Amino acid sequence: MPEYPDIEVYKSSLRRVAGGETLVGLRITSPFVLRTYEPQPTKAVGGRLTDVWSIGKRIVLSIDDNFHFVIHLMIAGRLRWRKPGAGLPGKRGLAAFDFESGTLLFTEEGKKKRASLHVFESREEAIALDRGGIDVIASTADGFADALMRENRTLKRALTDPSIFSGIGNAYSDEILHRSRQSPFKRTSQLDEREVAALRDACIAVLTEWKERLLAEVGDGFPEKVTAFRDEMAVHGRYNLACPVCGAPIQRVVYAENEANYCPGCQTDGRILADRSLSRLLKDDWPKTIEELERVRDEQKSAGRKNPSGR
Ligand SMILES: [Zn+2]
Repeated sequence: MPEYPDIEVYKSSLRRVAGGETLVGLRITSPFVLRTYEPQPTKAVGGRLTDVWSIGKRIVLSIDDNFHFVIHLMIAGRLRWRKPGAGLPGKRGLAAFDFESGTLLFTEEGKKKRASLHVFESREEAIALDRGGIDVIASTADGFADALMRENRTLKRALTDPSIFSGIGNAYSDEILHRSRQSPFKRTSQLDEREVAALRDACIAVLTEWKERLLAEVGDGFPEKVTAFRDEMAVHGRYNLACPVCGAPIQRVVYAENEANYCPGCQTDGRILADRSLSRLLKDDWPKTIEELERVRDEQKSAGRKNPSGR
């Protein structure tokens, strides 16, 4: 799911390519994407793109400050900037915003249609969609600590909860926890004051660095490769690869539809955390330390050599 750095890059690119331009057409081809009945979206045609802003992970296009189009990309939704009047791809196409110098295509990969579009006449109605999480970059040290400590949660859950923090999802929470050398499953109540301050510093550093990196990558173009998996990431999506800080193999914990990635060397004093997929594979014999993990892997490898058919 696009998170704060991706959303910032989309906003900056949209302002650059279409800011101030007239919306000359609007095509909504998916029957599921539009989640509001009033106002009728096509009434915005003829107005100008006067603002591009965001509410958490949602991007808002304001037309003449009378129509506010709230785009939620969810996991597989993407925006693309194409030549004027560009066609929407059949199955993936959701909506097209036609501006004078180009067309903004809103698409979604895959069968599960989760991305959404809301249209409101006032900013207040749009802001009502806000889940209430604080903007970490604009937060004060006290504001951050209050939000973090409100409930006793694991750090992974707290960071990704949109009612606590705005714009942080699965990818950047992994990176933030690695930067602050905290286990994803440590509880918020277990942090001392110094660790809370260090966690806030890590949030700001990781989100800002990635925003700058992605802005530089896009330059004066438009983001085409919006992905949660990037080679420069330290742990997210890096299962089994070496940690760039200590060289230990990155681990994962699979839960629900997500997985958390972490470095046992940097974050859990060498402990391997329980992983359902790993434990299913190894029955109840899942390893608890890097040494054990390596031993189990070696055993599996030599077992494979002895019996190449695998059975
Ligand atoms: Zn490490």
